[in-house]
Amino acid sequence: MTDMNSAFAHLRTTQRMPALFVGHGNPMNAIEDNAYSRSWRALGDRLPAPQAILCVSAHWMTRGATLVHVGARPKTIHDFGGFPRELYQQQYPAPGAPETAQAVIELVRASHVAGDTEWGLDHGAWSVLIKMFPKADIPVFQLSLDLSRNPRDHLALARELKPLREKGVLVIGSGNMVHNLMALAPGAPAYDWAESFDDDMARKIEARDAAGVANALGASRAARLSHPTPEHFLPALFPLGVADAADELSFFNANFDMGSISMRSFLLS
Ligand code: ZN
Repeated sequence: MTDMNSAFAHLRTTQRMPALFVGHGNPMNAIEDNAYSRSWRALGDRLPAPQAILCVSAHWMTRGATLVHVGARPKTIHDFGGFPRELYQQQYPAPGAPETAQAVIELVRASHVAGDTEWGLDHGAWSVLIKMFPKADIPVFQLSLDLSRNPRDHLALARELKPLREKGVLVIGSGNMVHNLMALAPGAPAYDWAESFDDDMARKIEARDAAGVANALGASRAARLSHPTPEHFLPALFPLGVADAADELSFFNANFDMGSISMRSFLLS
């Protein structure tokens, strides 16, 4: 059993950091000045300064192991196609957090977790962080989604990360509460099934029913249409897993983009 305090000895004990789920949506939010990107900027201004950021993004998927990036200089990954050149020119040169990442690997018991030196920061992480913390001076590291495991496993892993909040680590899940790219309908209102699933998740989150959220994936027609694949849903389980009844909840950006993308985001603090 790892001694939590020795593994995290390089970090000061702090007041409990908030935990955050961000609906990241369109990669263009990284360079556009819009309601979403402005909300991320405002949040960065008002959150307590983290000592490190752990981001669980929809866009880092592995099978058979959960990977934690331990690199000292994570590269900016432009993992999308068909966007303007300006988006590909964006860099988010935040340092990595190798010691903290290593401590996370030692902390987690319920999953097979290993270090990784290949990844960096995918757009689920950097498109949000570039607005939230534009100075890129806070160490950031990512943890992957192991798609060979179910949502309950992800929630169990997330619960083991709870002590990070007392070590000044901001846990961010970055995905979307509803995400169906096949159903995108620019300019159209949200589909009935999308609103239904989004409302259902909001109610469960309000009730701090993290297990109910974890069990919702694939459990109804609305759920199957809202997440044909699980990767944009699973990151929400991380802030829920590190939270408890004492946290105050606030939703923001609770609306839809292109009919089938929920931008609903939440802060637990
Ligand atoms: Zn995405």
